[in-house]
Amino acid sequence: MTAARAARNGAPGPGQVSAPGPGQVPAPGPGQVPAPGPLPGDALDAHCHLDLIEQPPDEVLAAARAAGIRRVITVGVDVASSRWSAQCSASHDGVYAAVAIHPNETADAAHSPSGRESVLAEIASLAGLPQVRAIGETGLDYYRDHASPEIQREFFRAHIEIAKRSGKALMIHDREAHDDVLRILDEEGPPEQVIFHCFSGDAAMAKRCAEAGYVMSFAGNVTFSNAPGLRDAAAAAPPDLLLVETDAPFLTPMPHRGRPNSPAMVAHTVRCLADVKGMGVAELCAQVTATGERVFGPW
Ligand SMILES: [Zn+2]
Ligand SMILES: [Zn+2]
Repeated sequence: MTAARAARNGAPGPGQVSAPGPGQVPAPGPGQVPAPGPLPGDALDAHCHLDLIEQPPDEVLAAARAAGIRRVITVGVDVASSRWSAQCSASHDGVYAAVAIHPNETADAAHSPSGRESVLAEIASLAGLPQVRAIGETGLDYYRDHASPEIQREFFRAHIEIAKRSGKALMIHDREAHDDVLRILDEEGPPEQVIFHCFSGDAAMAKRCAEAGYVMSFAGNVTFSNAPGLRDAAAAAPPDLLLVETDAPFLTPMPHRGRPNSPAMVAHTVRCLADVKGMGVAELCAQVTATGERVFGPW
């Protein structure tokens, strides 16, 4: 399951750490990636998968707190991981949950023995829990073909409805599907809080999101040397519509690209984004903390 999800995300999963290239320092084993220097203010990891990280949540969260990451949103991709996320957030301080059927899991959900309606009813029921702060990850993934675009769009529309009914934020996975995601949000009418997780658009897409008031959450790939377009998008995004995330265990930021990711590593992404925005690191920490509270509700 883990390997399948890693393959789905196109990123190395635990145990699949890519080998260092020539001239690179050999990677330490999982759990031995050097800790980032602590941030000068509290920040958050707006999207990660604690259930897919090899270390137990207590250890992962202690390392995150040492780096200044006080809050973490752990995200479900199907009924089982959504239930896990809700339970994890109920039993750990500073952890909040997002629940949904990932676009790449929608074909399985649609054909599950319990049926599409009961799967969505389960997500809707989890959405009512106080520690569940977002409906996600949902959206469209036209890069992978694990589910037909039609099924993905049906589930996306249903999740928009659940977000509106529950008053929770909508956390969108958008891979090579910008136009359809924006169109469906328009057609359905967006919920009050919309977040594009692992934002992957260019500066023009960032401007379209900004006009609609959608929040853009940047992951570790914004730090990659081959991602100047993503940094242009971050530069174009208004500071009050910015969030930061890891999508751990995937997408480890520089300087640890290719090694296992964890919420503490969002500190590297915060520093990169502060540089791109011409903001102080402490100022950006305060900004993303305030935005996190605005979109996910009081901590
Ligand atoms: Zn995603
Ligand atoms: Zn994710």
